[in-house]
Amino acid sequence: MSDPALFEMRDLTIETVRDGHRRRIVEGMSLSVRHGEIYGLVGESGSGKSISMMASVGLAAASLDITAGDVSFAGRRFAASDRRGLRSNLSHGVSLLFQNAKGALSPFLTTGAQVERVLAGRLPKSTCRREAIELFRVCGLNHADLADKYPHQISGGQAQRVAMACALATEPRLLIADEPTTALDVTTERELLRFLTRLCRERDLAIVLIAHNLSLVAEYCSGLTILHAGQIVERGPLASVFAEPLHPYTRGLIAAVPDVDAPHELEPLAGSVWGGRSDIERCRFSHRCPFAQPDCEAGVPALLPRAGHEVRCILYREDAT
Ligand code: SF4
Repeated sequence: MSDPALFEMRDLTIETVRDGHRRRIVEGMSLSVRHGEIYGLVGESGSGKSISMMASVGLAAASLDITAGDVSFAGRRFAASDRRGLRSNLSHGVSLLFQNAKGALSPFLTTGAQVERVLAGRLPKSTCRREAIELFRVCGLNHADLADKYPHQISGGQAQRVAMACALATEPRLLIADEPTTALDVTTERELLRFLTRLCRERDLAIVLIAHNLSLVAEYCSGLTILHAGQIVERGPLASVFAEPLHPYTRGLIAAVPDVDAPHELEPLAGSVWGGRSDIERCRFSHRCPFAQPDCEAGVPALLPRAGHEVRCILYREDAT
């Protein structure tokens, strides 16, 4: 029997009103993550990846309408519009990690006090200091005096590890990591991701890694979903998607990644993410696609199973020539 999913999002749809028009900014988003898995969610800014994950824990902005979908985590299922119910998952095993940890930490509290404050939610106050120091050690923060420093007194990499210690203080089973390494240099980025990978193994922690950097996802994830303009364009096991990327957008993302072992001319993707009215049904990539044809404007292409994964493009319909 296959391992049941720890986290599942089904058919999430998010709408907003902009310039007098109702727009679907996320449409039919589904995601399934197993225990201990690192799963990648990839796309450019505006593709809907962060909004989807924030909505899955009830933290979507109040101005957004969650019009469809449901989310289950560790056997608890809520309608995606039930923000209060979904927020309760944050105290039942879901933690968040954001980019720019220095900005997310309070400038008025020492780093140790910030971790202790989170721990106080589940432990007697008398044990929080000891536990905080242990979490610092787990997160590779071994200098004895680090817990007494304020965020402005530590480096960006150390701040991200303090944020990790805060995230781990709730004993999560799922970590939603939203571009956690964006503000870090390459060496610190790799260190943090290796550390996260080790945590997954040792603690059976699952991670949704939100990234715009496809090479990071390729290195650390077992599966991925690629979003463009609020729709899934390709998803499946990492090995399958990378062995045979099908969607022109996925191919464009891969072509834009530098490869030091096989240097090639980088091909930046033309255009930007579709921001048009969602009542106009068409492929949302058609204004950027070198293979666009009249049929691409005839409706939203279906997500089709092909080459061991799924793709949303008419080039892979049974009747395509
Ligand atoms: S459906 Fe058409 S426009 Fe959209 S990705 Fe496929 S070929 Fe390009």
